[in-house]
Amino acid sequence: MVTVAGLATARGFASGPVYLYRSDSEILIPEYLVEPGKEEDEFLRLRRAHAETKRDLENLTAVLKERSGRDDVMVFECHLMILEDPLLFKETERHVREGRLNAEAAVRKTAAGARAQFERMNDPYFRERVRDLDDVERRLLKALVGYTGSPHLDLNTPAIIVADDLTPSETVQLPSEFVLGFATDGGSATSHVALLARAMGIPAVTGLGNITSKVRPGEKILLDGTNGAVTLSPDAETVARFEDLVSRQRRIAAEITAGPPAGTLKDGGDVPILVNLHPGVPVAGLKEAGVRGVGLYRSEYLWMQSEGEPSEEEQFETYRDAVKFTASLAADAEICIRALDIGGDKLVRGISRKEANPFLGNRSIRYLLSNRDTMRTQLRALLRASAFGHAKLMYPMVSCIEELEEAAAVLQSVKEDLDREGIAYDRALPVGMMVEVPAAAVNARQFARHVDFFSIGTNDLVQYTMAADRGNDAVAHLYQPLNPAVLSLVSNVVEAAHAVGIKVGVCGESASDPVVGTLWAAMGVDNLSMSVNYIPAIAKVLASLTRADLDEYAALAGSLAGERTAAGIYGACDAWLRAKIPDLAEMLI
Ligand code: PEP
Ligand code: MG
Repeated sequence: MVTVAGLATARGFASGPVYLYRSDSEILIPEYLVEPGKEEDEFLRLRRAHAETKRDLENLTAVLKERSGRDDVMVFECHLMILEDPLLFKETERHVREGRLNAEAAVRKTAAGARAQFERMNDPYFRERVRDLDDVERRLLKALVGYTGSPHLDLNTPAIIVADDLTPSETVQLPSEFVLGFATDGGSATSHVALLARAMGIPAVTGLGNITSKVRPGEKILLDGTNGAVTLSPDAETVARFEDLVSRQRRIAAEITAGPPAGTLKDGGDVPILVNLHPGVPVAGLKEAGVRGVGLYRSEYLWMQSEGEPSEEEQFETYRDAVKFTASLAADAEICIRALDIGGDKLVRGISRKEANPFLGNRSIRYLLSNRDTMRTQLRALLRASAFGHAKLMYPMVSCIEELEEAAAVLQSVKEDLDREGIAYDRALPVGMMVEVPAAAVNARQFARHVDFFSIGTNDLVQYTMAADRGNDAVAHLYQPLNPAVLSLVSNVVEAAHAVGIKVGVCGESASDPVVGTLWAAMGVDNLSMSVNYIPAIAKVLASLTRADLDEYAALAGSLAGERTAAGIYGACDAWLRAKIPDLAEMLI
């Protein structure tokens, strides 16, 4: 049994067979077990990939001969010899037949075996052949993936995805009904893949180092997204402990459902806990899970899922269904639909341009203002949907007042179009902004006069304040939600909002960490929004505290902000919370 520790990225537990995705330069290679009786399909794919690779190598040899004017172009001829080695081909077929490996996994296994043999040889000539073998392996894998189309299509039974890393668009296209969990070599807890897993309620552990080289396709593993661990070849005792954790977490979730609305304090005060959603997340069961409104609806997933521009009708239907679902939670439940937030690492094929520095590029509201047709279409769809319940519109990545002024002019003109056409919409639709750029946080007093609400996006606010990429595990130590600079920005935003009587929420994932989310509530934030799996734990924590407790907590953090590091502040807050709530550990399972 081996347990590998990683980052607890999305809460929850999963056990199941491994489905491997390992990238090879730019392509992802799936490795899995084929169902009995399906081996023939794999043999056929292997033969086709072989034929295609052979053709490519012969063409390359011919081209090289012509260009160099020489007949002895060894390199590709040597690759051809390796490709055509009957022993290697038989070995690959054997892995499919006996190991039930898919063609890609079988090729990889054969290559690994041959590589080990070459490396053991003393002869430098043979050791040099390892590189040729690598090249042939890569060509075959590319040919295989080409035949299957997008690799994700092969996932048709429940499995845990083990990958070196996944981009948001790769993740979003996986058939979520078959994804039991994610375990990745790289990544961080605030990358978009992590958020996606959280929003879908799929447990995930990231930053596992080289988990992809430790597991075999089809092998059963345990994944603990709550504590950040993956166990291979678990013994009976570990399986029993795991099952106990699963049932305890279920019990806590059930207690929340039966209690007062999530976010109710011990003295009856209220800091509503809302949910972060995006198109494509199944909403069945969210009401039962204690959800009382949608604090952030990430509209950009519509673009990422369809890999292009959704039509007005498609958007309207999606937003309308989300608005109606929210209305079904409670008569006054609200949904905050965020305007298109593409850019950074949320790229859309055919739309996103290559930029030298995409996180600082033409993204979010900047993209919308420079693509007015896209903006008008989205605002039309959103306004039309607003007639079906309590919707709010929110602009992402606002950094200066001019952006809000321009956006307001576009919105006004879209409303006038709808008026002319006699189409209904909510005339009082509240319009707010994300505070996720330090310029907006510093200048919050000025912004507060232009909007109906603020929502602090700590995922980006921390990234931009600390200049630390939210998705890069190499700088994860600098990604500090409780850095005194971040605390000072949040405090400034809360003060600015309340000075003019508007509400301010936090919809960044930091809200889901009970130590941090409780601090935001204590600092006066009016609501928190997070992925559904995180609601029960923080609801339990808030239900154990009064407003006076929260004041004490905020005062503690305030007193430390001038003199401590982020880790020091976190430690002191954590200690305070544990002293105040003796059974905290049990709540956080
Ligand atoms: C944020 O930046 O905190 C946020 C909620 O937006 P996203 O994670 O989608 O960038
Ligand atoms: Mg953001």
